[in-house]
Amino acid sequence: MGMFCYQCEQTANGSGCAAHGVCGKAPEVANLQDRLLEEIKRIAKNVPQSKEVSHFITESLFSTVTNVDFDPERFKGLLAKAMSIGKGSCDQATEALIKKRKEKFGDDVAGLQELLMYGIKGMAAYIHHARVLGKEDQSVYNFLRDCLSFLADGPEDINELLKYNIKCGEVNLRVMELLDSANTGVYGHPVPTKVRITPIRGKAILVSGHDLKDLYDLLKQTEGKGINVYTHGEMLPAHGYPELKNFKHLAGNYGGAWQDQQKEFAVFPGSILMTTNCIQRPSENYKNSLFTSGLVGWPGVCHIDNSNFAPVIEAALSADGFNQDGPEKYINVGFGHNAVLSIADKVIEAVKSGAVKHFYLIGGCDGARSGRNYYTEFAEKVPKDSIILTLACGKYRFNKLDFGTVAGLPRLLDIGQCNDAYSAIQIAVALSKAFNTDVNGLPLSLILSWYEQKAVVILLTLLSLGIKNIRLGPTLPAFITPALLKTLVEKFAIKPITTADEDLAAILG
Ligand code: SF4
Ligand code: SF4
Repeated sequence: MGMFCYQCEQTANGSGCAAHGVCGKAPEVANLQDRLLEEIKRIAKNVPQSKEVSHFITESLFSTVTNVDFDPERFKGLLAKAMSIGKGSCDQATEALIKKRKEKFGDDVAGLQELLMYGIKGMAAYIHHARVLGKEDQSVYNFLRDCLSFLADGPEDINELLKYNIKCGEVNLRVMELLDSANTGVYGHPVPTKVRITPIRGKAILVSGHDLKDLYDLLKQTEGKGINVYTHGEMLPAHGYPELKNFKHLAGNYGGAWQDQQKEFAVFPGSILMTTNCIQRPSENYKNSLFTSGLVGWPGVCHIDNSNFAPVIEAALSADGFNQDGPEKYINVGFGHNAVLSIADKVIEAVKSGAVKHFYLIGGCDGARSGRNYYTEFAEKVPKDSIILTLACGKYRFNKLDFGTVAGLPRLLDIGQCNDAYSAIQIAVALSKAFNTDVNGLPLSLILSWYEQKAVVILLTLLSLGIKNIRLGPTLPAFITPALLKTLVEKFAIKPITTADEDLAAILG
């Protein structure tokens, strides 16, 4: 069976996965995902608006994001539901639909169509996380439907496609704002917090992914059971939220970013819960200790429904746990917009006095490619009179290094998860007001790494805000053709990364 997918940065040969996904996605799953997306386009065009349909569309989009769901049975279920909502009949023989669109429309048009589809997939992930915590906005659902209906008609006008993509970025700012208010409304505004990064003797559960509610529910259910709960990957920022850090058994952070999970999970002496992406093929030596929740899934891995984490707890209690304490080591998290803006006077004074000369936002999604060492090297090389803001799992490349302080401020400020790009934007906007300029006029450089579709939609948001000179790597998306890149460079001065030395020299001019 053939397939075609080029939605993420690790796509085969930098051009497209055609035999099997580099991520582990089987052709059967890739084609089920393509067919599901065709069905939801039809639903968006033909089925009257309702909350149930909006939720279904959102979940379908999120399920097809890279490293979320690899289980063909769950996609068959989603497809069956799509057929019943849309009263459609699906062409079972459809294969490699994106390739067919490339042949029909050409690479530029197909690339822009896919850019929009990936943008709304990333947005759907954030919509879902906000909804789980009770925040929704009908105008956002309307936009998803509008985009899907637009794509269903096979749009070919490049300007119209560009307009939709930028609008997608604009609407995503609203979605990230919703998620920010959901997270902070339920768990409080993150506060600067010291997080232990070495284990403590005793039974253990590791929680990875982005879903704070799953972590909260698990913490509640493990209270008084003698189990320490550790965060992994994008769950690290959870330690900064008051309502989560109140749990004394939220013991620390273990391991690094998602791409290290096979090595790290294999030696974790407890059970492991993946709440969202990015999941990798589990090896046999930890498959039985691994659990999934929410939209994430892997065939043969126990999936937790309805937030009842009893099986995860049982597995942790029957595992060995850590037999001794590791040496005490800590890092700092919790520098969301509320925390940073509460010391805005100090930051502004440090810039005015010349003690702080530049800000670098270094972060984004991370992946396994060796070229990603650029980000570590870049962070290490920025001058000592500058502050590094970071977010998303790209920070694991340097967040355990000691950057010290400047003008009494920590030089490394961890803003949070990828969706906390919203916080970074709020900080930049507040600074630009204080200095009577726009964001492009600030001594601020954005050095971003991308991997999957959430990074795509965040990039669209930054472009929709008119932010220029973003440095993007480690490689450019396969769906961005040379002609599209030329347009992005002309309009937004996007720059592919080169080397840390060259890029720093260009920035400091
Ligand atoms: S998600 Fe990425 S690695 Fe997986 S099949 Fe698609 S392009 Fe390939
Ligand atoms: S930030 Fe992106 S790459 Fe990192 S774990 Fe989340 S979805 Fe995956």
